[in-house]
Amino acid sequence: MNAETDALRKRIEELEAELDKARLGRTGEGDALAYIQEMEGRFRAIADTAPVLIWLSGPDKLCYFFNKGWLGFTGRSMEQELGNGWAEGVHPDDFERCLSIYTTHFDARREFSMDYRLRRHDGQYRWIADRGVPRYTATGTFIGYVGGCMDIHDQITFAEQMEAQVEERTRQLKHSEQFLQSILNTAGNGIASYEPIRNPAGRIMDFRIVYSNEDAFGRSAEEGGSVAGKTCREVYPGIFRNGVFEKLVKCVETGRPDSYQTDVRRGGDIVWYEASIEKLEDSVTVTTRNISEELKSDLRLKDLNRQLAIQNSIFRHSEENANMGSYAWNVTTNELECSDNLYRLIGYKPREFIPSFEQFLSFLHPEDRHQAIRDGIRAYETKVIVQNTYRIITKNGEMKYFRLSGNFIREGDNHLMIGALQDVTKDVELSDALHKKNMELRRNNEELASFSYVASHDLQEPLRKIRAFSSRIMEKESQHFSESTKDHFSRIIAASIRMQKLIEALLSYSGTSGINFEFVETDLNSIADEVKSDLEELIIEKSAVVEVQPLPVLPVIPVQFHQLLQNLIGNGIKYSSPDRQPLVQVGYTIVADGEGKGDFCRISVADNGIGFDQRYENRIFDLFQRLHGRNEYEGTGIGLAICKKIAQNHHGYITAEGTPGVGSVFYVYIPTTVSEQ
Ligand code: ADP
Repeated sequence: MNAETDALRKRIEELEAELDKARLGRTGEGDALAYIQEMEGRFRAIADTAPVLIWLSGPDKLCYFFNKGWLGFTGRSMEQELGNGWAEGVHPDDFERCLSIYTTHFDARREFSMDYRLRRHDGQYRWIADRGVPRYTATGTFIGYVGGCMDIHDQITFAEQMEAQVEERTRQLKHSEQFLQSILNTAGNGIASYEPIRNPAGRIMDFRIVYSNEDAFGRSAEEGGSVAGKTCREVYPGIFRNGVFEKLVKCVETGRPDSYQTDVRRGGDIVWYEASIEKLEDSVTVTTRNISEELKSDLRLKDLNRQLAIQNSIFRHSEENANMGSYAWNVTTNELECSDNLYRLIGYKPREFIPSFEQFLSFLHPEDRHQAIRDGIRAYETKVIVQNTYRIITKNGEMKYFRLSGNFIREGDNHLMIGALQDVTKDVELSDALHKKNMELRRNNEELASFSYVASHDLQEPLRKIRAFSSRIMEKESQHFSESTKDHFSRIIAASIRMQKLIEALLSYSGTSGINFEFVETDLNSIADEVKSDLEELIIEKSAVVEVQPLPVLPVIPVQFHQLLQNLIGNGIKYSSPDRQPLVQVGYTIVADGEGKGDFCRISVADNGIGFDQRYENRIFDLFQRLHGRNEYEGTGIGLAICKKIAQNHHGYITAEGTPGVGSVFYVYIPTTVSEQ
């Protein structure tokens, strides 16, 4: 546009020069004036046809010409515009500035350019660019200014609009950037953008971090998280070792997204990230997500699942091994869940039918149903575990015994009965058989006891006769007998005495079956005293010493305990050594039972007699077992068997320790409390 005005202005100058030339070249005044007028006329005609606004001012600064373009634009007449009339159309805000530019440049005869708003014919102020150039005659006389104006309103407003738009856009961009930044920083995900660094051959050697938010690989701002501008080799040297660098390169080259998992050491912890790579123009965007917690809970879950699987399989196996089944009955919804083995126990395949309480009742023996319901109600009311054994009819009609236990629990609004049942058919059968055997045994024992009593008792009578008649024959007829007959007769008498003792011992043994004896809290010291006085003759005969340390009070069967002590102390004196005075010591200690069942009172009877070989410890407690010959020490071999039986009747036991030539100790273990075995 300025080029156009310039061209026009140039043309006007040419015309003016021609005008001057004409003024100088003519001699006649009239001709010159006519020529000037002609030239002026030509100039105005050209100016009028120009598509720009043109004005001319004289040396007095006042305008004396406006072309048609101007007048058409302002919609005013030449008269209105002449002089300073044009100034009325200038926007009041621009007028002072324009006047100042015009006058200062005018006075200095300098060109000027200024933009101002000029009122158009329709009243709208429009921006125009006005350029004024001083005019001179060929001889150099200043004759005023010529100005050319262009309507630049559209350009200006367009530029203004553009500027406003740019400003708005910049504002929006800034806002979006801040918004994006805050999203990126608070998203919990890390986002980074890497730009490849290539060698001259174009190969990617490294990546420059163009952008990285705080969360990329957990690097916080304080930790120097601002890694933008640095290279991956500086910040993440590990990626050149773990294959991630190759993945980044591949993504840039193929454009295909990829992902990987990586661990980063943060303080003392290892933090796991899942990263995905995507190509964006020539760069790669890496989005990372901290998956440590997920991995941990995943691992925890896996571990729990594993434990559950193990427990389930243990449970399944133990159910099968123990012939057990388990159930959970939701009383509220009447849903019944049964373990696989429960189905098997009652002859069905796992889940062969949908279980229910009613169905369960139908498996019970009709006589046991009421009891089962009563037990169920009791478990519900007391909330304690109720256990009972019921008969169950299996699928093939077989009757089995099941021990069933159940416990009520609350689970939210639901009442659940959880429990187990065990096939105890074999136990019941066994205990039935055992019970029968016990009864039989008891009967046999009783029969035997009464038999041996009767037999022994009845045997005594003929024996007494043998002894009596033999003694009488010896007294009266011995003078007629030869020495050998005498000897035979005394042997018969000795044998019958021994036989009587044997029968007495047997009677005593069969009397210790212990079935109907009563336990009484007894002071063992008084029993020991009684024993000592019973053995007085033997003690005196052998000049023996019997020392009894204070003994406890124990629940015992007094008659039997008397016999026990008498047998043991008696043996201690009987099996004494001929080399020393017999000494028998009785004492006790409380010892713990090896199985932790309770405490035992261990009564010891020690002597300094002939002792015995430890190998025969067990044998001496058997009936009729003797270690020493009848000629050395008389006896029946029943005394210790009776002791053993008495210890057992007291729910205890007896042991012995012997050293040949030194002595023996017998230990009797009796529980300190009466047990109900
Ligand atoms: P006996 O009537 O023979 O004494 P016991 O049953 O009392 O029968 O004893 C069995 C055997 O144990 C005895 O024959 C003897 O050999 C041995 N015996 C018992 N007590 C002692 C003891 N205090 N010292 C050594 N041997 C003993």
